[in-house]
Amino acid sequence: MQWLKGLDRYLKDLGINFKEREPLAPYTTIKIGGSSERVVFPEDKEKLVKLLSFLEKEGMPFYVMGGGSNLLPADSGYEGVVIMLKSLKGIEVLSQGQTLRLRVLAGTTLNSLIRVAYEMGYSGFEFLAGVPATLGGAVRMNAGAFGKSTSLLVKRVEIYRKGKIEELEPKEGDWTYRAFRPDGVILASEIEFEKSSKDEIKRHLQEIWAKRRATQPVTEKTFGSVFKNPPCCYAGAMIESVGLKGYRIGEAKISEKHANFIVNEGRARAEDVLKLMKLAQEKVYENFRVLLEPEVKFLGLKDAELF
Ligand SMILES: Cc1cc2nc3c(=O)[nH]c(=O)nc-3n(C[C@H](O)[C@H](O)[C@H](O)COP(=O)(O)OP(=O)(O)OC[C@H]3O[C@@H](n4cnc5c(N)ncnc54)[C@H](O)[C@@H]3O)c2cc1C
Repeated sequence: MQWLKGLDRYLKDLGINFKEREPLAPYTTIKIGGSSERVVFPEDKEKLVKLLSFLEKEGMPFYVMGGGSNLLPADSGYEGVVIMLKSLKGIEVLSQGQTLRLRVLAGTTLNSLIRVAYEMGYSGFEFLAGVPATLGGAVRMNAGAFGKSTSLLVKRVEIYRKGKIEELEPKEGDWTYRAFRPDGVILASEIEFEKSSKDEIKRHLQEIWAKRRATQPVTEKTFGSVFKNPPCCYAGAMIESVGLKGYRIGEAKISEKHANFIVNEGRARAEDVLKLMKLAQEKVYENFRVLLEPEVKFLGLKDAELF
């Protein structure tokens, strides 16, 4: 493809590492996905911003990826550029007192952020301990658990959209269940933590880990929750009650531990996962008249394959 030649030249000039026809499976937590034409690894914000404006100007298709922990790429892959943000990491202390304010680059993992705050004696993101996400992905998805969500901690968001960089101070209406509404690529965020004691944070982390281990297939290959919880009830409880716990298609299985998780038992395909999702959606609708909406994001799937 002609456009790829121009892109490769641009990436080399900018000094951004990239891979050609790179399988996406290793970059996702469920370990599924065909190849993307290019996978690029920008290591600093300036290069990322230049790349984004180049791709937009040239009309080249692109997709940003964080920890790949809520993502299902197609078996046939993606005819575009995947921008891998995990190398865009860094934490800067802005202020420290009763609260701690950190400015965090989008590719920083939540677990490293939790560790830094813990070492400094501040609490905040423990509810997402063990979740293999980046901060950018957690903001985009408004990731949450145990009654808390990312929105509670985010004070500012630096976002790239259509050639411009903006600093937003998110308002309540910018957040919904599992989404941060303003579009664009999140470059960095300011996060506020509360003073605590290391003992207290440790106790809280242990409690969260124990709860997750007891109720979720945390050691298996999954992408976290498959469906959003509808306002009435829990998606997992409804899928379990229609008898689908442990149900398999190919090497994809509805988890025995938590029915709102799909496990890749070996060489599962996106196609198998989609079939399982559609089956769960149909059965739940037949029984409860509730239409489950996917929480997982899809990449490279054709409209007809989607929901
Ligand atoms: C074991 C396990 C446990 C989990 N537990 C939870 C949980 O308790 N609560 C919860 O909410 N989720 C949970 N998840 C799901 C997942 O971790 C979250 O949705 C997380 O926020 C995704 O972050 P990520 O960096 O992996 O994003 P990705 O999966 O890489 O991407 C998700 C979406 O965000 C977009 N995105 C990523 N980075 C950016 C950026 N910088 N700017 C703009 N868009 C971006 C992507 O384009 C994509 O649409 C779990 C997943 C696993 C595997």
